[in-house]
Amino acid sequence: MTYKKKEFLNIDNQTIIALCTPSGNGAIAMLRLCGDDAVEIVDKISLLYSKKKLSVFPTHTIHYGRIVSIQSKKEIIDEVLFFLMKAPKTFTGQHTVEISCHNNQYIIEQIIKQAIVAGARIAHPGEFTKRAFLNNKIDLIQAESINDLINAQTELALRKSMSQLQGSLSRHIEQIQQDLFGLLSIIEGGLEFFEEEQQDFEIDKIIRKKLNLIIQKLKNIKSNFSQQQQIKEGIKIAVIGWVNAGKSTLFNSILKKNRAIVTDIEGTTRDSIECSLYKNGNFWLLTDTAGLRQTKDLVEQEGIDRSFEQAEVSDIILLTFDLSKKLNCKQIEIYRNLINKYKNKIIFVGNKLDVENDQFLLLDFINKDQFLKISALHKKGIELLENEIENKIQNIFSKHQSSYLLNKRQYNLILQVENQMKFIEKLIKNKIEYELMAYYLREIIERFSELTGRNINEKMLDRIFNDFCIGK
Ligand code: GDP
Repeated sequence: MTYKKKEFLNIDNQTIIALCTPSGNGAIAMLRLCGDDAVEIVDKISLLYSKKKLSVFPTHTIHYGRIVSIQSKKEIIDEVLFFLMKAPKTFTGQHTVEISCHNNQYIIEQIIKQAIVAGARIAHPGEFTKRAFLNNKIDLIQAESINDLINAQTELALRKSMSQLQGSLSRHIEQIQQDLFGLLSIIEGGLEFFEEEQQDFEIDKIIRKKLNLIIQKLKNIKSNFSQQQQIKEGIKIAVIGWVNAGKSTLFNSILKKNRAIVTDIEGTTRDSIECSLYKNGNFWLLTDTAGLRQTKDLVEQEGIDRSFEQAEVSDIILLTFDLSKKLNCKQIEIYRNLINKYKNKIIFVGNKLDVENDQFLLLDFINKDQFLKISALHKKGIELLENEIENKIQNIFSKHQSSYLLNKRQYNLILQVENQMKFIEKLIKNKIEYELMAYYLREIIERFSELTGRNINEKMLDRIFNDFCIGK
């Protein structure tokens, strides 16, 4: 059984145009036209300095010229460069012209308008990539990795998306697909290779072994999915600690600007404040939490709950202590609970080094040497702390051995297929007919083919590509 790829899906050849660079400040913008008439459309709206038509030139050449109004060739819209790429050696497999023009909103709109008058239409989100997929230039996993590549928040995510674009995940999926076909052929045709009496026992044994192997491979692919998200979305760092320990001051010192309000009235930071910063190739999502606090001798439960919630969802915790004050029993108990639960995520920060009280470090549950002593107010030790954060990030990243990152769609499909495989495994134990087993397995193969897009319908495709930005 083979799955012919998307033969039932329409490949649209109409020429589309979109701005591929983000709108906003910058010297140059890039517009992309692609489709059957891309080059002819550009011929209609351009005048090259060579005085020739773009269409007469060989593919993969660059030309200098002007975009002009289709009605009056004398009306110059912009001086531009044309990147001519004729089919089939293009991203989409269709004729493509990229126009690099000056980055002015009016110019961009005028070029798009002229192209539309000449026969193009505006591209839908992700339409270029969708065409690349439909023309068998890339599979669906690679198409999705282009989106991941653009949205990567960490250097590692970028590297993994790049490797995925080059087929790292597709190869694993292809291998499992082959295994599934292999298993199906054993179930469908294997019967005749066995003596009657051996038949059931031998086949069951082989099938079970193969099933197990495939389930294991699926498990491996989807392992660490939740951790994979940190790589994709950036590292979440929470500043947690007692009210007035200097969390907001520390938050501001790391951000190098005043984002959180700092006062010496307890409980200033009511809710969590989030800010992201880009450091050494990674996004740090920094959260300043409301803070643990005590009111009229009662330890406020809400603040504690919120701090624990933050601790739970964070990748790194800057557990902040005020070195100038001795902790009371209740404070010690709460800090101790946090440490017991999240030890591996914690960096112990001792703040207010300038007014340190020797009594402070007489805590039995933390080793003195574990503290990174700083003064958030006087910006002392901040760089060391940042290095420590960076070490922790590298430590988190080093645990991700796989060369790819799954998205939700891929993860859910793999999970479904794994469950269906386990279902068959159970049926074997209850002596199921081989015909029925083959039927279930065919269903699984069909579902699995949605991963690479070998078996996918228009609606699913639209859902996937709608997440892309226009111009991709
Ligand atoms: P939060 O409640 O933990 O967010 O604490 P804040 O950042 O609002 O700081 C509480 C008080 O401690 C403020 O008056 C800060 O100026 C002060 N503070 C913060 N860091 C230091 C420090 O390193 N040394 C000293 N002496 N005071 C600090």
